[in-house]
Amino acid sequence: MRGHRQNYSNRRRIQEKPVKECVKYEHGFFRGEKCQFCEEDGEMIMSPRHVDKFGRIMAGILRHFPDRFDLEMTQQGWIDVGEFVDAIKQKRGGLGYLTIKHVKAVIETDPKGRYQFEDNRIRATYAHSIDLDLDLPTEGVPEHLYYACSEDDVEDYIENGLFPEDRMMVHLSGTRLNALEAGRHIIGKPVVLMLDVREAEKDGGKIMKAGTTVFVTKEVVGKHLKRLPNST
Ligand SMILES: [Zn+2]
Repeated sequence: MRGHRQNYSNRRRIQEKPVKECVKYEHGFFRGEKCQFCEEDGEMIMSPRHVDKFGRIMAGILRHFPDRFDLEMTQQGWIDVGEFVDAIKQKRGGLGYLTIKHVKAVIETDPKGRYQFEDNRIRATYAHSIDLDLDLPTEGVPEHLYYACSEDDVEDYIENGLFPEDRMMVHLSGTRLNALEAGRHIIGKPVVLMLDVREAEKDGGKIMKAGTTVFVTKEVVGKHLKRLPNST
């Protein structure tokens, strides 16, 4: 089978915004030039270039290769944040200034909610290529979720279901638009499939909320999928 891949990594070079902290009025960390609450400039925590650089390393470690940095990961994907910071400082000279505060600021302001920071541990919530046993929330999953694919794959998916290919979970989107965004690598005009979440749950499917607009599950049964009409 081919084309199952749903790419959630930033393949295109995206211009990051700076990560800053509103120190004057204590509005917390933010991304961008000014605090959205008080319009103050705030203090620089990480420049756009370093947000990009550090973001790539963090995604790599938490999703794919903790062992390359000699880091231990639990079966739920957690890594000790202190050990994480030390490992990066040792192996990446340009990030020698890194502290737990930087990690916290980057995670808290992540626009896609791709990470969690809890009890001095951090983890990625989706896009892993490591086989984990993620315990993400199953409550509040919307009635419908979406998946973009190429015309060639539609029939196969509706007949045989969706399985993860290069990632360990199937990644679904909260809206049709998000699905198209996640499927932007698809060649030709993408088709959007819609999953009936309640039916899937009735049949024992476990669908978890992983990011702001991303949901993950081990597999999707074909009969719960429906093709949406093409539209522009
Ligand atoms: Zn502020």
